[in-house]
Amino acid sequence: GKRINSAVNSALSNSQDDYVTTVDVMLKTIVTALLESDVNIKLVFSLRNNIRTKLLDVKSRSTNNAQTKKLIQKTVFDELCNLVDGETEPFQPKKRKQNVIMFVGLQGSGKTTSCTKLAVYYSKRGFKVGLVCADTFRAGAFDQLKQNAIKARIPFYGSYTETNPVKVAAEGVAKFKKEKFEVIIVDTSGRHRQEEELFQEMVEISQVVKPNQTIMVLDASIGQAAEQQSKAFKDSSDFGAIILTKMDGHAKGGGAISAVAATKTPIIFIGTGEHVHDFEKFSPKSFVSKLLGIGDIESLLEHFQTVSNKEDTKATMENIQQGKFTLLDFQKQMQTIMKMGPLSNIASMIPGMGNMLNQVSEEETTKRMKKMVFVMDSMTKQELESDGRLFIDQPSRIIRVARGSGTSAFDVEMILMQQQMMARMAQSTKAAQHGNGMPNMPG
Ligand code: GDP
Ligand code: MG
Repeated sequence: GKRINSAVNSALSNSQDDYVTTVDVMLKTIVTALLESDVNIKLVFSLRNNIRTKLLDVKSRSTNNAQTKKLIQKTVFDELCNLVDGETEPFQPKKRKQNVIMFVGLQGSGKTTSCTKLAVYYSKRGFKVGLVCADTFRAGAFDQLKQNAIKARIPFYGSYTETNPVKVAAEGVAKFKKEKFEVIIVDTSGRHRQEEELFQEMVEISQVVKPNQTIMVLDASIGQAAEQQSKAFKDSSDFGAIILTKMDGHAKGGGAISAVAATKTPIIFIGTGEHVHDFEKFSPKSFVSKLLGIGDIESLLEHFQTVSNKEDTKATMENIQQGKFTLLDFQKQMQTIMKMGPLSNIASMIPGMGNMLNQVSEEETTKRMKKMVFVMDSMTKQELESDGRLFIDQPSRIIRVARGSGTSAFDVEMILMQQQMMARMAQSTKAAQHGNGMPNMPG
């Protein structure tokens, strides 16, 4: 009894100022988390403003803090997913055509490793794949690619003597094209210093190999440098996709969001280790979950379903305030509880339900609640919208509902009793609003 009193009280006392404060406190927590994950500061603040506007919009206001929190999480989640969810269709190589894919990225970002991973990925899908090493800058670059390729049984091309990367790239691609390779992957160098030179090199290689797809490789720990770096690569080699590596490490890849936002280019794969099979298709949902530290996103989304029914809850609250509690209100409450699981707080707010939870197993509770739902599903609209008293006048209705729901007349009567209890409580709530405080509930 006390619980529903306090629920109603908090719904009534939730003034505008309280709500705004709650939203701001919760947003602050999320903003901090995002900044700590290296999401670009401008993005974070525009995100915060969007979300704040949304939440302060009258239509989306919820009645309690838990719901507000879930709503914020869900909104942040959706906004971030939208940010990293590339709208463009990812590149699909065509069978029996010569598809050239060029890799760009800084040294150590994971280009050579990811080249092999992608080669294996396409090879497994029935493409004839070849690897070209156009990194003539770093000593041992060709050997590294060669070893990877041999291990993965992928044909490769490179040179120990030629120092012009543009020339090696052109020769390698020409050779594989002649041999009717379907996917030709070109690995490039990525030295840190002399960046001007590097970008010029990318432009030149790109001009001779004419890639169908250029992929930028980005280390997940890149942080705030992501925006500037990805823009520079975009200008020189207009890449159409991003591979995010080292997602197995501590970095949550927040910087990558800035890269995506700054270049409007989707992430297509993530690297999750050094092994050739540590390679996954990029999923915005799992990426954002990891970023926000949400372990079980499914359960978050499930809980959100309840939040999205807040219109129903609001209508019920209004009814209660007017001293009414119809069978329809009861049905809506039941449905909400079914969604949240029988042990939720709301379950214990319903008279008789709290006792039920204490005394019987969860299985039995679920069974009883399902029975209630069946019973109410068998009622007519008129019956549902009533205060339930028309059943007392016409017992034949009870029998009809029992038959229709596959339950007994006793089951139906029990439910009506509970609803009557709620209706009486609603009336005393209304009375209390005009008197001194709220009386405790019977039962
Ligand atoms: P490149 O200089 O861009 O060609 O980078 P490399 O492919 O040589 O990779 C640099 C280092 O990062 C190597 O030691 C790789 O084994 C390692 N590496 C690449 N991708 C991943 C990844 O997804 N996870 C982890 N843990 N290590 C990676
Ligand atoms: Mg390399």
